[in-house]
Amino acid sequence: MRSRIKEYLDADPALADRYVKIRTYARGIIISGYDLTKRCNLRCEGCFFFEGELSTRYEEEKTNQEYDEFFRAELARGVNYPHFAGAEPALVPDRLHIANRYWKRGLIYTNGTIKIDPQITFMIHVSLWGNPATDAVLRGAPVFRKAVANYAGDPRAVVMMTINRRNVDEIADVARVCENAGLRLSFNHYSPSRQYQHKVLEGGEETDTFRLSTREDNLILRAQDLARVRDLIEEQIVLRPQTVIYSRYYNDWINAAGTRFIIDAASGMATDCPILNMPRHRQHHVDFSYSDDECCIANIDCSGCRHYVSGYTKIMAELDNHTGSFESFAGWVDVFDTWCRLHYPAWDDLTVLEMEEAAAGDARGAGWAGATNIR
Ligand code: SF4
Ligand code: SF4
Repeated sequence: MRSRIKEYLDADPALADRYVKIRTYARGIIISGYDLTKRCNLRCEGCFFFEGELSTRYEEEKTNQEYDEFFRAELARGVNYPHFAGAEPALVPDRLHIANRYWKRGLIYTNGTIKIDPQITFMIHVSLWGNPATDAVLRGAPVFRKAVANYAGDPRAVVMMTINRRNVDEIADVARVCENAGLRLSFNHYSPSRQYQHKVLEGGEETDTFRLSTREDNLILRAQDLARVRDLIEEQIVLRPQTVIYSRYYNDWINAAGTRFIIDAASGMATDCPILNMPRHRQHHVDFSYSDDECCIANIDCSGCRHYVSGYTKIMAELDNHTGSFESFAGWVDVFDTWCRLHYPAWDDLTVLEMEEAAAGDARGAGWAGATNIR
């Protein structure tokens, strides 16, 4: 395999540069996720957190002192890229500040309505659910403009448009707004929870996060939607290369029809989801507990999962499956490099020296430069 990779790299010096950069600085990443709160100021239709009980059934009562000790222990356990989610982590800024004492790099998933302190150094993925009108309907409040204003020009921020059946045709609208605001844009595919799917099929009690969906009209992407999503994203990649962060290889893969994972018939779980299979990955609930059987989006049905976290991770973890041809290997590099652009501020502009300095300046010492284990 090594000689084949060398052959591909020798044939394409630009590809070799990208490969060496990710090999040097982005391998050996040890990610774990942290639900920082069960509270959210929105109620999005089909929410991954509230439509199911695997995230909400834990008590939220830890003190700041307990958070401090917990994050210190997590760093000692080897986590070098934490992911902070919730419900809505911007509602608990103290917990973000405590985490930032221990890690310089990491990622916050937010709905964008509350501006996170500029002193916080983590990357920030801001979700938008379509153009302002659709976003307001699906999220239960007119928050699109607030989110854009909060993060316009912020180098930490990338907008993640949550693509669903109702907003496919708004991809260009969202891209235009992001471009005008100096915001970078990427995409996440709405992935239904088991509870949401069941309610859509069987009918279900109306709740804050199940107000609009029916069997005929819901958010789940069908094969024809996915084909259109693929084409519309491709258009925006070409039209707005400075704004859109997306991999063409990934665009083809994630929008192909059919489940993206191998599903165990008995349990319904994906047997090839790397998030479940990574030995040190954990998703901690608000009471710090975790289960080895859960990923970071525990309510989601694996058979319909197209979440960007799982999609990117799956491809990145499967280098061995991407060495059969130059195109496949180049696609793997493109996906990994795109992931880095989504997770490192200004990845494209960083030189090797700057990254070494950033890692050395990380007060914890378990920096990225030491975390290289690529073959
Ligand atoms: S999807 Fe996110 S922003 Fe929307 S209700 Fe759920 S946790 Fe809150
Ligand atoms: S991330 Fe993995 S385990 Fe979680 S829902 Fe998706 S496929 Fe299943």
